[in-house]
Amino acid sequence: MRPRLRRRNAAPEKHDPFGTQVPDGLWLKCPRCRELVYSREFERNLSVCPRCNYHARLSARQRIASIADPGSFVEWDAELVAADPLGFRALDEPYPQKIQEARRRSGEREALVTGAATILGVPVALAVAEFGFLGASMGSVFGEKFARAAERAAADGRALVAFASSGGARMHEGVFSLFQMPKTIVAVEALASARLPFIAVLVDPCYGGVTASFATIADLILAEPGAMIGFAGPRVIEQVTRQKLPSGFQSAEFLLEHGMIDAIVPRQHLRDELARFVRLLTGYRRPSASPVTRRESTP
Ligand SMILES: [Zn+2]
Repeated sequence: MRPRLRRRNAAPEKHDPFGTQVPDGLWLKCPRCRELVYSREFERNLSVCPRCNYHARLSARQRIASIADPGSFVEWDAELVAADPLGFRALDEPYPQKIQEARRRSGEREALVTGAATILGVPVALAVAEFGFLGASMGSVFGEKFARAAERAAADGRALVAFASSGGARMHEGVFSLFQMPKTIVAVEALASARLPFIAVLVDPCYGGVTASFATIADLILAEPGAMIGFAGPRVIEQVTRQKLPSGFQSAEFLLEHGMIDAIVPRQHLRDELARFVRLLTGYRRPSASPVTRRESTP
């Protein structure tokens, strides 16, 4: 797992990774190039290090703000919350308590945020994972929200753009988490039937049941530079196979070279590229402003 950017002089109890409420004069230390970066400059650069291009993690809301046209996002199914079907306890902590804590820390009610938006005027449905909520593990609410978003996108005639990042299935829900894998895959079929594209953007880190289900069956699979993507982690694979893994294994660049993903898109270009891809795949044309404009544009 990649290290997070460490904020200098920040209050240690504040859980606001690269958030919007950074006080003036604060500096961040990039974990890759070790350079100090002015936090405002870092935020303006969409949480990408201007010195070495290190892509830090974004929260789901930051991601939506960086992609969707301002004010265009309308959230779906925000009221869905997890049940505790197994009465699960981990390290003596009941699952509902764990959920409460995750909610408090992330400000989200679940690990996936879905809704309708436009990107440069192009209508889409968005499904964005929140890694700050229990490692964006895929439980029954994550799966249900994703499935509903796919079905609603198909019904509304929108392309689905999913930002996939996850530690895997949510162990607290046991087999109910595993049910989400076929469920999300089946849901995507609705888009195929409606001849609408499904685009997945794999962001660091993307592992386990999410990689093994909807994230890697998209029509177009994009990734951010340096994102780590896989099913099991490299250490587990090395232990099981007793083989040394090649350098760069499971990085987006390695996967592009081996044909598992279609393109790596730097965060600064993601908005333009997503709009372009959706337009290309759907034939979407922005409605003309007036009949005069339309006549003038006709050769
Ligand atoms: Zn850097």
